[in-house]
Amino acid sequence: MKWSMIATWKMSYDGVNKGVCLLKDKKSAKDAVLEAIHAVEENEAFHSVGYSGLPNEQGVVQCDAGFMDGKTLQAGAVGALEGVIHAVDVAYECSKGRFNNVLVGEGANEFAASLGMKKENLLTKESYERYLERKKENQPLSSYDGHDTVGMVVLDQQGHLVSATSTSGLFMKKRGRVGDSPLIGSGFYCDDEAGGAAATGVGEEIMRGCLSYETVRRMKEGMSAQEAASSVVFEWTERMIAKKGYCDAISLICMNPSGEIGVGTNIKFAYVAADSDSNTEIYVALPKGKEVVIRKYDSKIDDLD
Ligand code: ASP
Repeated sequence: MKWSMIATWKMSYDGVNKGVCLLKDKKSAKDAVLEAIHAVEENEAFHSVGYSGLPNEQGVVQCDAGFMDGKTLQAGAVGALEGVIHAVDVAYECSKGRFNNVLVGEGANEFAASLGMKKENLLTKESYERYLERKKENQPLSSYDGHDTVGMVVLDQQGHLVSATSTSGLFMKKRGRVGDSPLIGSGFYCDDEAGGAAATGVGEEIMRGCLSYETVRRMKEGMSAQEAASSVVFEWTERMIAKKGYCDAISLICMNPSGEIGVGTNIKFAYVAADSDSNTEIYVALPKGKEVVIRKYDSKIDDLD
C-alpha cells in the first residue's frame, strides 16, 4: 500500500527519514509523525521548535503544538506550554479525550506534568544570546525573524492520515501569545475522507483565514492537492493585500487521501517529501502568480531553514 509524508522546512529532513522507516514497516501515521517531529523538537540547531527555541519578550520559551487524526477526527492542541521538549506529545495526549482537547498556559503545563513529562530548560545559551542581542536592538516584532513551525501530514499503509505541528512561535512574542499552530483548522487539519494540511508563517495571517481547513475543504470538493494549497495561499494573500496593503508570510503543505501532496506559499519556502515511490528529498517552492514553482533544494544557492 502507498504511504506518503510531507513536512515544512529543511529542518524536518532527519525527522522525515525516521518517520519513513516506520511507515515502511507498516507502523501508523501517528507513530511516524510523532517520531519525526520529536527529531526536530530535540535538535538544538533549530531555534524555532522545542529545545533551543527562541523565547518571548520575557526570555521564556513558550511552545504551541497540534495533532489531528484523520480517521477519528480527534484533535488536540497546546498553547504557551513551557519547559516541555515534546509539545507535540502533549497535543496528542489532549486529542484522546472527549473534553479538554485544547489546553493553554498553566493548564497545559499541569497536564504535561500529570503525564510524567519532565520539566526542562528549553532556553539554550545560544538562544539566550540571540534574545539579549535582540533586546538591545529594541526593534519592534518582526514579521519574519527566527520562527518556523514544523508541520507534517502523513499517510500510512493502512490508508489513514494524520497532521501535526510544533513551534516556539514568534521570537519576542508577548507572553501568552498563541499562533496558528495549535488552532484546529488554522495551523493544521486532517480528515481521512478529504485530506490533511499544515501551515507555517505568520500565525495572525493564517488564523484569520482558517487556511488549513480551507485547503482540506477544497480537496474534498475535488481539487488536486497542489491546486488546493496554491489557490488558498494565492487568494488569501491577494485578499489581505487588498484589505490592508500587505500580507505576511504564509506557507501551506497538504496531502489528499491518495497520498498526493500540494504546496502553497507566498515566500521562498523549503519542504521535505517522501513516499513509497520516491526517496526523501528537500524541495524549494517559490510563488509565481497563482502557481508555485517547485524544484529540488540546492545548498549552493538556497539559504533556507
Ligand atoms: N506559524 C507560527 C506562529 O505564528 C510561526 C511559523 O510557522 O513561522 O507562531
